[in-house]
Amino acid sequence: MYKSFLVKYGEIGVKGKNRYIFENMLMEQIRHALKTAEGEFEVTKEQGRIYVNVVSDDYDYDETVEALSRVFGIVGFCPLLQVEDEGFDKLAETVVDYLGKEYPEKNFTFKVNARRARKNYPLDSMEINAELGGKILDAFPESKVDVHNPEVMVCIEIRSLINIYSKEIPGPGGMPVGSNGKAMLLLSGGIDSPVAGYMLAKRGVHISAIHYVSPPYTSERARLKVEQLCEKLTGYCGSIAFFCVPFTEIQEAIKNNCPEEFFTIIMRRLMMKIAQRICEKENCLALITGESVGQVASQTMNALACTDAVCEIPVFRPLIGMDKTEIIEIARKIDTFETSILPYEDCCTVFTPRHPKVRPLLADVEAAENNFDFSELINEAVEKT
Ligand code: ATP
Ligand code: MG
Repeated sequence: MYKSFLVKYGEIGVKGKNRYIFENMLMEQIRHALKTAEGEFEVTKEQGRIYVNVVSDDYDYDETVEALSRVFGIVGFCPLLQVEDEGFDKLAETVVDYLGKEYPEKNFTFKVNARRARKNYPLDSMEINAELGGKILDAFPESKVDVHNPEVMVCIEIRSLINIYSKEIPGPGGMPVGSNGKAMLLLSGGIDSPVAGYMLAKRGVHISAIHYVSPPYTSERARLKVEQLCEKLTGYCGSIAFFCVPFTEIQEAIKNNCPEEFFTIIMRRLMMKIAQRICEKENCLALITGESVGQVASQTMNALACTDAVCEIPVFRPLIGMDKTEIIEIARKIDTFETSILPYEDCCTVFTPRHPKVRPLLADVEAAENNFDFSELINEAVEKT
């Protein structure tokens, strides 16, 4: 029945002269998302509205809805009937026919909400509301008008064509990916970091991902798992550039030269240093991690301070105040959970100290790290990324 969708997007951040940038990015992300749906679509902007029009003879409605409900920036979208103006009687007939098909149970309460963008239509909005309401009541005597809290809001927009819709499917909200610059996600194979990437993408940040591998301590399957997580994220985040850092030599150097209690914290500092070098090349303005206060020894406030001391760009930790159960709930929603729990080792679990320092002091960490000059190994890792 539907050949079009009306896309509703939030007003925040779309005021003034930035509006068209926001809209264009939203349209671009919609086009990207619709590649997963069977059918051919055209995304257009008319009079400050974004429409998705089906241009192929056939398309998959469920896949289309699925794709649109992942595009950040969309608040809701309405399956739309678009008809030519062939007079009011014909319009009323079409609306009655439409409601008959869309609502099998006819004992709904409704309200007609007409808007006239084209003032030369013979009836004004109040008249359309009243006349059309009467026709609907005639056709479905079990239905009732409720102007305050209707179950069905019958929207009629008189434009060059006439839009008829009554359903709004919720979108994910947020802002279109790309409208807030680019950042580098430190992506492990765990549960948390994919969720962290999702949350920044929701705010319009275009994500690149960096992953550290330590063969032969970590396996090829572990890396493939992370690629798979990336692929799952693209459904929400658009395209993701994936950087894989060979980290074995650095980890061995830490193990052979630094006190065991500082292994993890030094490793995290070196990860941050490498990530920032890639950020420079890739124009990423911040780092993103899946850390949450107190979850493990390297995520106490002292430890986070030691990590942040080597960061010259902001580090975003969107999960910082969340419980594991809350994080898992999102991981399930975005379908990364089942992949994340596959039991392959991460480089973080290689050479894990038996007794990590829970409240490390920066001076001690720096002293421990200075046992070895890591700069050559860092350069090499960056080159081989
Ligand atoms: P996650 O579930 O994301 O693995 P975690 O609770 O296991 O997080 P840690 O292992 O301490 O926590 O890692 C903290 C953060 O460091 C991760 O959320 C991720 O952002 C980053 N990280 C850890 N290991 C890697 C890796 N091998 N490659 C890239 N980033 C990593
Ligand atoms: Mg982990």
